[in-house]
Amino acid sequence: MKRATVIGYPIAHSRSPLIHGYWLNQHNIEGVYEKMEVAPENLAAYFQSIRAGNPVGTNVTLPHKEAALALIDHPDERARRIGSVNTIWSQQNALYGTSSDGPGFVASLYQSHPHFTLLGKVVTLLGAGGSARAIIDDCLRQGAERVYIHNRTQNRAAHLAELFGERALAIDANQLLQALAETDIVINTTSAGLKGEPALVLPWHNLKPTAIVADIVYTPLITEFLRQARQNNHPILPGLGMLLHQAVVGFEKWFGVKPVVTQELHDLVARDIDPAYKP
Ligand code: NDP
Repeated sequence: MKRATVIGYPIAHSRSPLIHGYWLNQHNIEGVYEKMEVAPENLAAYFQSIRAGNPVGTNVTLPHKEAALALIDHPDERARRIGSVNTIWSQQNALYGTSSDGPGFVASLYQSHPHFTLLGKVVTLLGAGGSARAIIDDCLRQGAERVYIHNRTQNRAAHLAELFGERALAIDANQLLQALAETDIVINTTSAGLKGEPALVLPWHNLKPTAIVADIVYTPLITEFLRQARQNNHPILPGLGMLLHQAVVGFEKWFGVKPVVTQELHDLVARDIDPAYKP
């Protein structure tokens, strides 16, 4: 029986077993997917067990995404570019890896907003952490004309802009006002508001009226940032879709079937996050 895992430290909060368990069941695959708490000092040893084939692969979450990159043999081009991996599999004793965060975001966007394309569009991205880096990469791959990056710590935004070249531009709070007027999609990748501090507040009146507003945070399902976007009549993209779609890559690598993100799966995980959730 094939076994795959998700590792993190801590890992108790992970919804990945619910997602992969749903697909294993749906496809009648005799496999298991389970969460494992792995401390940073045990990461290298854990990877040896993947080399040996049990588990056949793993998802990697905080705080291991960057450290894992250095421990695998063949990170793909995307992983090297963004400096982290979240999906690892083994082949003939060698470890391969990629990051599915950026593709997961784009797939979620296109599933929820099927008439929208990033090609030629202006993106304003809030935040400059690991997930920002992954998402900028995929927005540019999809042909976005420009990605404005705004972050509390400005030099982190400047560093990212430098990394991605001339279509990526770090902006300060004043420049943000201007940028929002030409923005087709705003993506919040910050964890602002998660630890009891106030949520981000955008100058909503400056934002192009048709702009989509996305938040990659999925607890709560509708963040304060998205609630404000709705109040200002913007179409929204909640973060749960990204979580579901990023899981597709690993499942296909480990179990050999490309699974589909269905409404049923969405509702299952949404109810796990918020028992009062109604589709
Ligand atoms: P990082 O720690 O790498 O980055 C956090 C970012 O948030 C930084 O840009 C930081 O700014 C900013 N930030 C934190 N607090 C505040 C605040 N009070 N005000 C303004 N900015 C703030 O985190 P990740 O990029 O890995 O993840 C970010 C969020 O995305 C997490 O909440 C995570 O749960 C979620 N996520 C969701 C995924 C999904 O599948 N939907 C996948 C991955 C992550 P600064 O540089 O100034 O510190």
